[in-house]
Amino acid sequence: MPASAFGEHLQPFSGITSFMRCPATRDPAGADVVIVGVPYDSATSYRSGARFGPRAIRSASAMIWGYHNLHRLRPLDVLRVVDYGDVEVVPPSVTDTFRNTEAEVLAILETGATVLALGGDHSISLPLLRAHAKRFGPLSVVHFDSHPDTWDSEYPGQPYSHGTIYRRAIEEGLIRPEAYIQIGLRGSTGGPDDWDWARQRGVRVITMDEAAALGVPALIAAIRETASGPVFVTFDIDVADPAYAPGTGTPEVGGFTSHQLLQLVRGLKGLNLVGFDLVEVNPQYDHGDITALLAANIAFEFVALRALR
Ligand code: MN
Ligand code: MN
Repeated sequence: MPASAFGEHLQPFSGITSFMRCPATRDPAGADVVIVGVPYDSATSYRSGARFGPRAIRSASAMIWGYHNLHRLRPLDVLRVVDYGDVEVVPPSVTDTFRNTEAEVLAILETGATVLALGGDHSISLPLLRAHAKRFGPLSVVHFDSHPDTWDSEYPGQPYSHGTIYRRAIEEGLIRPEAYIQIGLRGSTGGPDDWDWARQRGVRVITMDEAAALGVPALIAAIRETASGPVFVTFDIDVADPAYAPGTGTPEVGGFTSHQLLQLVRGLKGLNLVGFDLVEVNPQYDHGDITALLAANIAFEFVALRALR
C-alpha cells in the first residue's frame, strides 16, 4: 500500500472522514495547512446548529478528488495538509470557548502552519483574529457575508455574539480598517445605521446590489485594491443565496450563486493569505448536503490558494 493511501486512493464513500481524508493528528509539526474545527454555536441570534458544521463539511469533502483543473495543480501534493480535529469548545461559555480557540490556534500558528478553521457560528472569528494578529500584526480582512457583523451588542451586557465580533475586532485593533472589505451585505436591518458603522471607520463595504452592478471581475479588482499585507479571509456561508446554501442560521435572500463565489475566491490568488475561516454551516437546515458541499469546495479553494502562495 503506498504511503499516500491514507487519502485520495480510498473511495470517497469509505474511510474515516477527516477533511479530504487528510491525516488526522493533534500534532501540527511539519504541516503547511492545518484544518481546525470550531464546533461552537452558542453565540447565534436565531437558528443554532452550526456546531455540526465541521462534521458536515468534512463528510462532504470526501467528494473532492484533489486535482484543481483551473489552477492546474494538486494542492495535497504541494502542501502537507493535516486535520487537527476540533478545538475544545465550551458550549455554555463564549469566553471560555474563545480562550481555548485562541490558545490552540496560536500554538498551531507558531509551528509556521496556516490554519483553515471550520465553524461554528461567526463568533469564532474573534479568537482566530486574536491569534493571527498576535503572529502577523494587525490584519487585512476579506469578509464574505450577507451581514456586517458589526453590531454593538444584541443583548445587554453581552459583547460577544456572531453579529458583533467584527466591531470587537476593530475596537481591539486586530484589523486595519482601511484594508478591510465586506462583500455581499443585503436584506433588511434593524435601522439605517447597521451598514454605516464600518463605513465610518474606513472599511470598504460592498453591498449585494453594488456587487451585482460591478460583476465578478470588477469585484475581484476591488478586493485586490483593498487587501494588503497579511490577509485573513472570513467566509460566512450565508453570503450565498439560500437557494445554494439553505443550511445556515440566518439566511438572506438575493445572494451570490455558488459559481460566483468560487470565482471570487479564486480571484484572491497571489494575495498574502495568512488565515481562513468558513462559518455558519448548519446541517440541520440543509437539503441534499448542498450547503456542506459548497463549503467543502470553498475550503478546497482556500487550500489551493495556499498551495499557489
Ligand atoms: Mn457573519
Ligand atoms: Mn451572515
